Amino acid sequence: MSQFRVGIGNDIHRLVEGRKLILGGVEIPYDRGLLGHSDGDSLTHAITDALLGAASLGDIGSHFSDKDPRWAGADSFVFLRHVRGLLEERGFEIANIDATILAERPKMAPHIPAMKARLAEAMEIEQSQINIKAKTNEGLDAIGCGDAIGAQAVALIAVADSIPAKLSVDEELEMIEEMILEFDKREVS
Ligand code: MG
Repeated sequence: MSQFRVGIGNDIHRLVEGRKLILGGVEIPYDRGLLGHSDGDSLTHAITDALLGAASLGDIGSHFSDKDPRWAGADSFVFLRHVRGLLEERGFEIANIDATILAERPKMAPHIPAMKARLAEAMEIEQSQINIKAKTNEGLDAIGCGDAIGAQAVALIAVADSIPAKLSVDEELEMIEEMILEFDKREVS
């Protein structure tokens, strides 16, 4: 059985007037925002679903129903942090996340570093473990017409022990010395 598991996530929300545009936990200045029971953060929802998928834990709707008044207007980072906790409880670590935002407007590039920083902090991973891309839909379909913003994500997770610990050279030498001592003890007895 492989120690690594992969998950996929996909989400879309409609752009409407009178809502804040929030993607990857970052508020982006725009004349419209994403409609949803929560804050409508389609990028964070796609990543959350990818993590749930990798851990065989269903999907975001099965954990946070859009009928549940507790999640009305909720910050989607509440979902992401909760799912990160579920993975930790089951002994999983996040190896990496790759995501794509699908949006005709506004320009996403200036906001991607802030999204990476916020998402990495929420998942307690390094920024080098998350990649976010953005592309348009070339004027096609609802996203291409600027009526919606979608996102796709894949997540790779691993059983915690299968990711080699990052030890300093000194720590590694200390570990080897301890192993030799253990070995010597066994030789004597
Ligand atoms: Mg959603």
